[in-house]
Amino acid sequence: MSSRSRSRTRAIAAALALALLAGASAHAQIPTLGDSSDMTASTERKLGERIARELYRDPDYIDDPILDEYVRGIWSRLLAAARTRGELTAELDERFAWQVLLGKDRSINAFALPGGWLGLHLGLVSVTATRDELASVLAHELSHVTQRHISRLMTQEKRQAPWVIGAMILGALAASKNPEAANALVTGGQALAMQNQLNFSRDMEREADRIGYGVLTQAGFEPQGFVAMFDKLQQASRLNDNGSFPYLRTHPMTTERSADMQSRQQLAARSGGAPAADLVHAMMVGRSRVLSNPGVDVLRGYVNDSQADAAMQPASARQATALYAAALASAKLRDATAARRLAGTLADLVRGDAEPARVASLLVAEIALEAGEPAQALALAEAPATARPEMLFASQARIARGRPAEAAQRLQTWVALHPRDAQAWQLLARAHAAQGQQLRAIRAEAEAQVAHLDYEAALDRFKAAQELARRGTRAPGDHIEASIIDSRARQVESLLREQALQR
Ligand SMILES: [Zn+2]
Repeated sequence: MSSRSRSRTRAIAAALALALLAGASAHAQIPTLGDSSDMTASTERKLGERIARELYRDPDYIDDPILDEYVRGIWSRLLAAARTRGELTAELDERFAWQVLLGKDRSINAFALPGGWLGLHLGLVSVTATRDELASVLAHELSHVTQRHISRLMTQEKRQAPWVIGAMILGALAASKNPEAANALVTGGQALAMQNQLNFSRDMEREADRIGYGVLTQAGFEPQGFVAMFDKLQQASRLNDNGSFPYLRTHPMTTERSADMQSRQQLAARSGGAPAADLVHAMMVGRSRVLSNPGVDVLRGYVNDSQADAAMQPASARQATALYAAALASAKLRDATAARRLAGTLADLVRGDAEPARVASLLVAEIALEAGEPAQALALAEAPATARPEMLFASQARIARGRPAEAAQRLQTWVALHPRDAQAWQLLARAHAAQGQQLRAIRAEAEAQVAHLDYEAALDRFKAAQELARRGTRAPGDHIEASIIDSRARQVESLLREQALQR
């Protein structure tokens, strides 16, 4: 555990302890969440924003354009299916965030948060064999949100102020990451009782299974995924009781639930045996394994594993995972030659199959970029500028090649359509800075903070930009930029005031 995340756990522990101390008396002075009804969607969304803001700040948070696009693709199909089936109401659709945040953690975990945010650890992605398995976990968590299970839990806690509940949830998340720290900080019956109230009931779990199963199949995923994932998690829970499977603690894998799923699957009676090898999923598994921060020895292990068997046509899923992990692991170990060779072998292997070929080609581009060869990266990533990974890679390559104006132009178009894309704003800041446009660079940095809901940090950057504008030295067009900055600063100030009122 790094000292950064240690101090972070301590900060959360302090917040939790404070929350627990305040718990007994807080409801006397602090406004409550609601009356007798469930928490409203907008209150839940605001609570979710507080928690999401902390997750964005967590050193384990990762915005990986490739995994993000992959997970988002599955997630949006599930959302569309939930809409069709009437599980996702127009009100929740509109008010909630419906975003999946990825964590580099190796633990097998996925969790629904208030307001339509979902946390997904790369450790969970790493152990899935098919896209359908991953989709089944997401469908289950999605159903906890659409069925308002979270709002029901929060309603039980309605005597608590929102920030107290937020601190409790963050405390529980920190605890699931680090069981030792959790044991040290959660002492006394009151603390445990409060954390237990944050767990879903058996009935809620059954409902999330049932609704999730319907959403999964409606979205066109194989129901086999649900059963396979259950079996996998159940096996893992038997083998491993040391706390590294926090998903299992909040989602008890009972034989009953598994049997229920199996009978449901037989009813669905889909034919066709084992699902076809899904090479894209196999490569995403390889990527998750390498990006979930394993040690150097594990990375070397991935490189060696890939050399154990020769590449054979047609590509098997196992081979695609092994080669992808080996190529990316070599890049992380700064062995550019091996990385290029392995990625090249992978690209040859999947050539002719459009989707897998694109993923392999993005890996080659990424390796070229990391090896300091932006021209090659640009040639590979330039084509479809409407896809996020290509757009981000090509922008990095253009900046590295000394063409920041071109990068800025494309990034500006992108953020106009996707204003919550923090990584694009950060790259835009770099592209502006590379052209000596300080004012625009600072504003882009501020927008990146807004995208991650950190309004304090954003206001800090906006004020720095206003200060710079006052001091003179203006580039062409800066007077327009300065007035945009003034109005954005006012908007963010009012968001901050609103947050302060909710305390
Ligand atoms: Zn659940």
